Amino acid sequence: KIILYKIEGFMDRSNLNITKEMALQANEDIAKRSTTGSYIYLVIWFSIIIPHKFYERSPEICLWLTLTLIILAAARIGLIINFNRIYQKSSKVWMIVFFSVIWLIALIWGMFCAMTFFLPELDYMSLSFIVATAGLTGGGVTALVPSRPLTLGLLTALLAPGGFVILISDTYNVSVSIIFLVYWIGMYAVTKNQHREYWQGLEASFLLKEYAVELEQLNTLDGLTGLKNRAFFDQTSKQEMKKALRFQSHLSLLFIDIDFFKKINDVHGHLVGDECLRRISSLLKEPIRRVTDTVARYGGEEFAIILPGNNKEQAIIMAEKIRHEVEVMNLPYGEAHIDLTISLGVSSMVPELGVSVEAFIERADNNLYKAKHNGRNQAVG
Ligand code: GH3
Ligand code: MG
Ligand code: MG
Repeated sequence: KIILYKIEGFMDRSNLNITKEMALQANEDIAKRSTTGSYIYLVIWFSIIIPHKFYERSPEICLWLTLTLIILAAARIGLIINFNRIYQKSSKVWMIVFFSVIWLIALIWGMFCAMTFFLPELDYMSLSFIVATAGLTGGGVTALVPSRPLTLGLLTALLAPGGFVILISDTYNVSVSIIFLVYWIGMYAVTKNQHREYWQGLEASFLLKEYAVELEQLNTLDGLTGLKNRAFFDQTSKQEMKKALRFQSHLSLLFIDIDFFKKINDVHGHLVGDECLRRISSLLKEPIRRVTDTVARYGGEEFAIILPGNNKEQAIIMAEKIRHEVEVMNLPYGEAHIDLTISLGVSSMVPELGVSVEAFIERADNNLYKAKHNGRNQAVG
């Protein structure tokens, strides 16, 4: 971040937090914005040299300069097209090379513009170059607004050689030199706000994306327990069923119901009941280590755990482990403590075509009913 800050430099970023992703986006934008600039130099160059017949007057210089501009334009377009490939390997290399090419084109232009002021044999093109350079400056700073160093470098390369030559040579109208200076300072100052607005907009769009992801995640959670909610369970159970069917892998489901929970509410009140739900929820999450496992609150005091890749034996071992942990859990209540137990129904299968997720859940539900019927505090598979 510090390096990026330094490279971007020259600006007030006091309350802007630039992430890697934002820097990537900004550089991609710079590449895209600079597409027109890649060939505009050539177009204007030909617009000047053809009517002025520069290629007849100085064929050798004309050829070399034209070739140089073509090669640099091609390099610039190549860098833009291959932005992703190069930037992924090294963002620094991309920035250094791309910025240098832009500065170099501008510098060659600026120096040739200066030569038309300085050399009497090129004087016939100087007016065209003044107009062209003014246009290139305006277009360039608008396109390169995301980066202050790039903007400043471009302005300097385009305007400084001409402005300086006029000042020292005394061969050309000094007012052009003053106008170049005003351009140089003015354009840099004028784009300051646009630059700030660009970065604020970028930051806002990234924040919005972050919020959207957070909101989506919140939508999948149960408010009281922090476990996944019923909607998430419904969606995930269907997906896991499809996956297990396609890969012909094991899929298990634990259905969990707290025993005599109504009594807890009746005796101790709903707040204590809620606290019990939270405690059991955090305990349920503990033995579930795989990221693919899903622990959800199915209903009031009912929970469901999806275990992809687990067969019946593994699922029953897991169920028994959870049952035992709840049984020995210590829930203090004043001087005494609350005893809680749970009943579990297990359903396991390698899905076959035509078996619905509802049937899979129903099997777990039936086993849960059996566990209740057999005296609770047990797992039936
Ligand atoms: P068993 O399952 O062993 O047959 O008996 P039970 O008493 O647990 O069964 P029942 O389904 O009749 O009662 C479930 C109770 O769970 C009813 C309700 O008071 C309680 N409950 C459901 N959701 C919440 C909740 O969000 N907070 C609290 N505190 N209690 C809840
Ligand atoms: Mg119940
Ligand atoms: Mg119950």
